[in-house]
Amino acid sequence: VNAGQLEIYANIPIKLRDHIEDVILNRREDSTDRLLELSEDYKGKSGKKSDAEDLTWRELPINERLSYALVKGIDKYIVEDTEESRISFDQSLKVIEGPLMAGMNVVGDLFGEGKMFLPQVVKSARVMKKAVAYLLPFMEEEKNTDTKSNGKILMATVKGDVHDIGKNIVGIVLQCNGYEVIDLGVMVPCDKIIDTAIAEDVDIIGLSGLITPSLEEMSFVASEMQRRELEIPLLIGGATTSKMHTAVKIAPFYDNPVIYVPDASKAVGVATNLLSVDLSKPYIAKVKSEYEILKNRFDNKQNKKDLISLDDARKNKLKIDWDNFDIYEPKQLGIHKFNNVSFETLKDYIDWSPFFYTWGFKMLYPQILSDDRYGVEATKLFNDAQDMIELFIKDSRISADAIIGLFKARSEDEDIIVYQEDNKENRIYGLRQQDLKKADRPNLSLSDFISPKDDYIGLFAVTAGSGLDELIKEFEDDNDDYLAMMAKAVGDRFAEAMAEYMHKKVRCELWGYADDEGLDNQALIKEKYQGIRPAPGYPSNPDHTQKLSIWEILDVENEIGISLTEGLAMIPTSSVSGIYFSHPESKYFSVKTIHDDQVKDYAKRKDISVEKAEKILANNI
Ligand code: SAH
Repeated sequence: VNAGQLEIYANIPIKLRDHIEDVILNRREDSTDRLLELSEDYKGKSGKKSDAEDLTWRELPINERLSYALVKGIDKYIVEDTEESRISFDQSLKVIEGPLMAGMNVVGDLFGEGKMFLPQVVKSARVMKKAVAYLLPFMEEEKNTDTKSNGKILMATVKGDVHDIGKNIVGIVLQCNGYEVIDLGVMVPCDKIIDTAIAEDVDIIGLSGLITPSLEEMSFVASEMQRRELEIPLLIGGATTSKMHTAVKIAPFYDNPVIYVPDASKAVGVATNLLSVDLSKPYIAKVKSEYEILKNRFDNKQNKKDLISLDDARKNKLKIDWDNFDIYEPKQLGIHKFNNVSFETLKDYIDWSPFFYTWGFKMLYPQILSDDRYGVEATKLFNDAQDMIELFIKDSRISADAIIGLFKARSEDEDIIVYQEDNKENRIYGLRQQDLKKADRPNLSLSDFISPKDDYIGLFAVTAGSGLDELIKEFEDDNDDYLAMMAKAVGDRFAEAMAEYMHKKVRCELWGYADDEGLDNQALIKEKYQGIRPAPGYPSNPDHTQKLSIWEILDVENEIGISLTEGLAMIPTSSVSGIYFSHPESKYFSVKTIHDDQVKDYAKRKDISVEKAEKILANNI
């Protein structure tokens, strides 16, 4: 029962309520008959007002019905309506190009005007998808028999973004023009895009995104394509993208063609030019020079901030008076594993605000639920999330697991040396800020929070995603992006909740330095506790390769099944890893830009080439 969809108990007419209670509480022999009799009075005018509306919209002409279903996100009748529309056209494709596209345009406009929100748009897209899925076999049949593919195009909405209407339309248009389209869907991690492009030997990669963070992600995908030495042309499209952004922020990261595609109608022309034997070279050269001119125009004096040398930065480290500090000795040194932590417990540790952010609602929980503008849709979304939580609790395939290690450690410049129980040494490589500081502000490194002599450190990896992929796949197979995204979003929330829960366990029990902290969830979300848990790839320790050390020391993959992709992303994605620091002065900061001298020093410490170090630290150089 979804309580959010129910009539308020007190509002049920008293007579009806009595009759229902008679049935539920088995109060009378004839309770069933009496309720059936009474129910006659409620036929057609039940508490759900929308039922009446439902019936009227079914009377509309077929194409208006399709539009209505799309705007309202109702998938119940979509197959029969699509069929009805299909037989009225000579080609199935025309249903898409005509009524379906028209309906989606209405959705796009309402979304643009702020009258529809992302969850509703995703539900609309789900209806569209089901309609297209129904039409696809017919379209296959209607295709010319000599369907030699013009080329293979991989399309994806980048990680962090769920907007795929534009992408789907481009994909459909390309398919209609003889291109084979591999659509990876929405929120696609970079590694998946690149791995699939290689495995499928595609001719072009097309990235789509609507929200601004996607721009950053697209730059990242371009740089990863460069790092992994791809030569496949890259197309960029979506509402917030532009030719200027593509020229300035994406093209410079990738030596091969990067081309902005303003809308679906241009996609075919660009693809044809790129894949034509005769046209591609001059076309690519033309685009390249056009973009370089744009970039030069943009590159006015980049005022580079003053950096100090690594030596000077080290001299200005955070100086903790270790001689007068009682180091916290963990109560339970060594490695601890936790399997199947109950989702029932974890759900109380969820920080809901980022959940709403994921779905395009930029407002804090719980205020958002009663907000004038967002309240109604946010509450529906929140109720759907509660249903998903119930699924997580019931689905025995999904589990939350953690592996945690508390070890002896000491710092050495930016590095932290970790001693395992058998005294095996491991080194965690760190970085130090090099920006010129105002008086008495230190140039921080995480290693400053660890004593150079006898100290302790914690490492952790947690996941709430074991088995989750199977559930997500079930939704995807059913063309249900909404539930698939909901499962991912809830999985991510549980992963963060798990990180929060385990950190508390560490502070209060395993390490035990804060056994009396007594903080509620709100205080935990606000990070009121002592100590931090910086995650590799975040501003204090931007180097993702740090995960390799954590994985080796804790044997994370074997113990709880989180693997690392080539790009060092965690799979399952609903996972969190990091390092625990206990010192009261430890805090998050950002390493920001570093100088070449630190890159060289880092390369030397790590025994890798400077070139490799530059790649690893690219975002900080
Ligand atoms: N309540 C949030 C928690 C995640 S964000 C949620 O549910 O989404 C906060 C986490 O990001 C921190 O616990 C830390 O692991 C990481 N983090 C934030 N800032 C960081 C920084 N500057 N350096 C390293 N890690 C950081």
